[in-house]
Amino acid sequence: MIDVRNVSRQYYSRTAVDNISFSVKPGEVVGFLGPNGAGKSTTMRMLTGYLPPTRGSIQVAGHDVLTDSIAARREIGYMPENVPLYTDMRIKEYLRFRGRLKGLSGKDLRVRVGDVMEQCGLTHVRRKMIGTLSRGYRQRVGLADSLIHQPKLLILDEPTNGLDPNQIRQVRDLIKSLSERHTVLLSTHILSEVEAVCDRVVIINEGKIKADDTPDNLVSNL
Ligand code: ADP
Ligand code: ADP
Repeated sequence: MIDVRNVSRQYYSRTAVDNISFSVKPGEVVGFLGPNGAGKSTTMRMLTGYLPPTRGSIQVAGHDVLTDSIAARREIGYMPENVPLYTDMRIKEYLRFRGRLKGLSGKDLRVRVGDVMEQCGLTHVRRKMIGTLSRGYRQRVGLADSLIHQPKLLILDEPTNGLDPNQIRQVRDLIKSLSERHTVLLSTHILSEVEAVCDRVVIINEGKIKADDTPDNLVSNL
């Protein structure tokens, strides 16, 4: 589903990502773990085709994210770290708007908006203004948004940042249930997040991959 080969990214003279390679198979839930400044967001943005690598190649679902970006993006649902929501829109209205941007209309759009609200536990609050929602519910809206075009792969950037423990549990449970139908790559700086959610973890630090293993093996080798 994801194949990253010898990818580097420089910002001027600074090397943010230094010759990394990793892959993710269909159905896997993989954590991308590292401290602040490790190169996680840079990698996520290259995976979604928004930032070109300085060197190397990236394939998503068999499509090169640079030369075949439209086909690659169709397979990717991306939730950025700060979900860019419109506070004065109702949830349902916002998801319809986002679906239209992805090319949906008519009955398809209605069905998809209904389905993602159901999947993300939003149906009962669909008429609420986004600005009145808790952070936990906003993350659910962000997840619903990322699912609207039925992507195979979900790329989630720090999905539980800034949430309280109760909201964290709910968002993790939701991600786990979504992972039954989607391949997931989840970036985080929190080890317990990958232990709770992921089958495998790729550790990045100072732009380099330091480990690639199951959470259990990594913890027992600490
Ligand atoms: P993380 O998401 O793991 O916190 P980033 O990918 O955001 O890490 O950053 C990796 C490194 O690249 C950091 O040293 C950061 O300061 C630098 N960096 C990130 N974005 C830019 C940018 N637009 N211009 C210059 N340096 C950047
Ligand atoms: P807008 O941000 O106005 O919705 P974009 O063309 O920037 O329009 O974004 C289209 C899709 O890509 C949206 O789903 C958005 O969340 C996602 N996206 C926006 N910025 C980035 C980014 N830096 N990396 C990956 N995906 C992004």
